[in-house]
Amino acid sequence: MVDGVAVLSWIKALQAVYAENKQYLTDLDAAIGDADHGINLDRGFTRVVQELDKNKPPDISGILKTVAMVLIKTVGGAAGPLYGTFFLRAGAACAGKEEMDAADIVAMLEAGLEGVVQRGKAGLNDKTMVDALTSGLIRMKQLLADGAEIKEMLQQGAAATQQGMKDTIPMLARKGRASYLGERSIGHQDPGATSSYLLMETMARILGNG
Ligand code: ADP
Ligand code: MG
Repeated sequence: MVDGVAVLSWIKALQAVYAENKQYLTDLDAAIGDADHGINLDRGFTRVVQELDKNKPPDISGILKTVAMVLIKTVGGAAGPLYGTFFLRAGAACAGKEEMDAADIVAMLEAGLEGVVQRGKAGLNDKTMVDALTSGLIRMKQLLADGAEIKEMLQQGAAATQQGMKDTIPMLARKGRASYLGERSIGHQDPGATSSYLLMETMARILGNG
């Protein structure tokens, strides 16, 4: 089971991961966007952790909603509102829960992804974070149906998210700034798909102990 302490650890670890990968994510965005994705997420999650340290929410849902609010407030561009919506819906999905089992984790992530799709209107193969997150979630649902433990489900989910991230390389971007490049977007890994992989990979590393 995964409790609020573990979720808080995940968010703090994610802040460190985005700080470490700030340049990498920004370089990916330089190729097909405006070179700010790493800067955006580093700034957003730094503020998230400051807020969580100041005002510790009582439960999982409260933690995720705080993440959402801070991202929406402090991160501009496409990724701020999209990840903000992801965490807002994820938080709503686990309202009232002290702990999450494997099914609760899948339901949380699925609600988050649905929010991203509703907000950004990206479909599969549009070369966005939706491609990476969808690959991860499909795999996790298979493992859930097979009765896998949380650790294995999250690890394999992260591996599938990584594959979904790599699968964006040959795609032509149809949403966001990269779509302005048309054919020239082909051959580059999508920055948002990459930050989504980092989100799932960090989740597997931290929540996989639950
Ligand atoms: P901006 O493009 O405004 O500079 P970022 O650079 O922070 O914002 O984020 C870019 C990422 O956002 C892209 O790599 C892509 O994955 C994601 N993205 C952009 N538009 C959409 C959308 N409509 N739906 C889903 N994801 C999107
Ligand atoms: Mg950008």
